[in-house]
Amino acid sequence: MCGVFGIYGHSEAANLTYLGLSSLQHRGQEASGIGTFRGDTLKVVRRQGIVSEGFNREAIDALAGDRAIGHIRYSTSGGSFLRNAQPLSVNYRHGDLAVAHNGNLLGADTWRARLEELGAIFQSTTDTEILIHLMARSHGTTLRDRVIDALSRVRGAYSILFLGASGMVAARDPWGYRPLVMGELDGATVFASETCAFSLIGARLIRAVEPGEVIWVTDRGTESIFPFETPPHSAGRSCSQCIFEHVYFARPDSHMFGHSVYETRVRSGRILAKEHPVAGDIVIPVPDSGIATAIGYSEASNIPFGMGLIRSHYVGRTFIEPSQSIRSFGVKLKLSPVADILRGRSVVVVDDSLVRGTTSRKIIEMIRAAGAREIHLRIGAPPVTHSCFYGIDTPTREELIASSKSVEETARFVRCDSLGYISREGLLKSVNDPDAPARFCTACFDGNYPEDPAEEPPRVAIPE
Ligand code: SF4
Repeated sequence: MCGVFGIYGHSEAANLTYLGLSSLQHRGQEASGIGTFRGDTLKVVRRQGIVSEGFNREAIDALAGDRAIGHIRYSTSGGSFLRNAQPLSVNYRHGDLAVAHNGNLLGADTWRARLEELGAIFQSTTDTEILIHLMARSHGTTLRDRVIDALSRVRGAYSILFLGASGMVAARDPWGYRPLVMGELDGATVFASETCAFSLIGARLIRAVEPGEVIWVTDRGTESIFPFETPPHSAGRSCSQCIFEHVYFARPDSHMFGHSVYETRVRSGRILAKEHPVAGDIVIPVPDSGIATAIGYSEASNIPFGMGLIRSHYVGRTFIEPSQSIRSFGVKLKLSPVADILRGRSVVVVDDSLVRGTTSRKIIEMIRAAGAREIHLRIGAPPVTHSCFYGIDTPTREELIASSKSVEETARFVRCDSLGYISREGLLKSVNDPDAPARFCTACFDGNYPEDPAEEPPRVAIPE
């Protein structure tokens, strides 16, 4: 999962991109980057770590120009190196180009091998660079046409921004896996992964970029194009937006795919309470992402809500950290039990999701050590049984506890007194959209992949 931000036509472009990226920081903390154009010349600064650590006043001041794109990275493809940080930047026969991508392309290894056979040399190990090589081979006469040419050859997930001297292109893949919204600020056009970035800078939300839409922004204004064949509408789907954005990834103050993340989570908690009631003394969330779901559970069950775990905000998120050793260590660093409200009580612990089970086990151990009499774990997502290939770093199937253990076995593993997951239907209902079953991807819960991740890319001619 990554975050992208772009602005076209504002004298404070780099400053605003810095702020936009800061509010998207929850989407990745590995690296950040900003690219700006002054005239025909691109300047890109990329740093490892979070935005506030990587960019000081001097770095921002060096990024002159009235158009910018930015990226924050959590590696889902390629390794965790600075050369994989984005925006990727190149100079080719059409001039300078910067690209910021959220999502994963399918069949990336095959694409890479085919392009290398044709003489391409890659500067990074990210799938995003495949698009740059396809653009370099395109016969399109404008940046817009070269982007469309490249994107029409690939499958998979992209919410992506391209910035060249002639304009900016924003695009979302035809399935619409990952989010992208468009806004306006002082006459400038703005794009971001989440609406919370607009709230910070005072931009007005115009609308979401639609699945399969390409928006071409120049000094003459914006142009919307739907150039791709619509995806095969398997099982009556119109698109396949990631339901996990609502469950965990997005900030609760964002509107995601047209719906309030906070309200979706509260509703999911209410549904969870109906599906898995329990006679507890107190409902506590695993902060931060479990808070809204726990509020909903508490409301519907009439069990008081309390903050039985306190989170330190000065350490990265466990699911985000790529290394298992850091992840295991991280639980104690990040969460601390409030023994005074846990001691002697039957505690309903609400978390957003249960992926490997190792973090939940440590949290339950911590709550029990603080004196809880009983611990009932309630999860705001169905069991995660399948890996994601569309831009989320879920582990391999073998590492997903629900792929091999029943609910009872999982409860024994995490050592809780009872365990209940919201149903897939309940989760879709919580979005409060009657069309949700046709509009959301739930592949990590049911294995119903909109696009087959194992299918090789079609053998199309790549212009030399
Ligand atoms: Fe989201 Fe899961 Fe679909 Fe991936 S597989 S896009 S995490 S719902």
